[in-house]
Amino acid sequence: MKTLDDLKDVKGKLVLCRFDLNVPVDEAGNVTDTTRIDRVKDTVVELRDKGAKVAILSHFGRPKGTCDLDYSLSFLPSVLEKQWGVPVLFSDDCLCDPELSDGEITLMENVRFYEGEEACDPEFVAKLAGGAGDVFVNDAFSASHRAHASTEGLAHALPAYAGRALQRELDALEMALGEPERPVVAIVGGAKISTKLDVLNNLVSRVDVLILGGGMANTFLHAAGCDLGASLCEKDMKDQAITIFEKAEESGCAIFLPSDAKAAVEFKAGTTYDEVSVTAVPSDRMILDIGAQSIESIKGILGHAKTIVWNGPLGVFEMSPFDEGTNAIAQYAAAKVKSGDLKVIAGGGDTVSALAHAGVVDDMTYVSTAGGAFLEWLEGKDLPAIAALEMMDEEE
Ligand code: AMP
Repeated sequence: MKTLDDLKDVKGKLVLCRFDLNVPVDEAGNVTDTTRIDRVKDTVVELRDKGAKVAILSHFGRPKGTCDLDYSLSFLPSVLEKQWGVPVLFSDDCLCDPELSDGEITLMENVRFYEGEEACDPEFVAKLAGGAGDVFVNDAFSASHRAHASTEGLAHALPAYAGRALQRELDALEMALGEPERPVVAIVGGAKISTKLDVLNNLVSRVDVLILGGGMANTFLHAAGCDLGASLCEKDMKDQAITIFEKAEESGCAIFLPSDAKAAVEFKAGTTYDEVSVTAVPSDRMILDIGAQSIESIKGILGHAKTIVWNGPLGVFEMSPFDEGTNAIAQYAAAKVKSGDLKVIAGGGDTVSALAHAGVVDDMTYVSTAGGAFLEWLEGKDLPAIAALEMMDEEE
């Protein structure tokens, strides 16, 4: 696909940039995490320095195709200015002609104020592109699993390029599952297997070892014949778990399951617990984290790995001491990344907060802030807005 390296003669052109500025905001209206804003700074500054007129498109919340000002993006330009260090204007309709001078930047109002956005209505796409758009830049990986007007539609309607953040994200994903340095190990944790069946089915055919943890490992332990007391366990998913075991064996992927666990009577921070074998969980106890033996075994596996792809915590990391398993493995992996022995690509769901909680989110090779898009990529699916960028390149 084409990148900003291919976009040379852009002075005076109107560049429609799709970012994901759907940032978390607290009750007082303050942005609580600027990661998504910070990651697209390079694209904005580069286009500005090249003399482009930059019109930024983004969604914010779910206004469901109506102009609901509770979801207006008008509060954001001052935050963007602070984070990017450049002036940012605001245009109160994403379909207006922003009439910018060379090097000026404007944030357009929420694209989801129009029904045509989520429907990818061709007329709406034409209006978005038609105002005066000369070029389209997609720098919103986290919105690229949606076939919307401002993600997929514009990539077909205008000469389309990947922005710097999207480029970095795709390079990291390629490093993890495209042409990874082997052995490649996947760590999949989290609450339930029902939400990750497609991820697991794809990973067993791609990685050398699949480490399972968290509540979802319980379903596999149940399928392997363990009685897990009062632990979270999707017993109705036993057959799916067995199918994954079989698929793994066919593809030569080793599955690692915890051998011991911290088991407590109450689902509560600081509650008393015992370290028990997964074959001897008392009937009134629930597994809330992996045990010390499992931590050591996982470190042993990671010690030989060259690449790790990680989604989901290994225990109830929000409640101490059941964060210990996730913390220990995250810190071990981070040290190996620092010494240059390992690449860790992590993302999806609670993974970012679990790594932040362990204090190592900045020490990983790449942490994706995309939830759904990262999971769909782990599932091996084509993301429509990315496919459209690639198609654009082939057509030319
Ligand atoms: P997910 O969004 O599927 O990645 O799940 C993340 C959630 O799984 C977190 O809120 C964890 O607290 C939860 N979790 C991890 N391990 C367990 C466990 N053994 N029992 C119950 N919940 C768990």
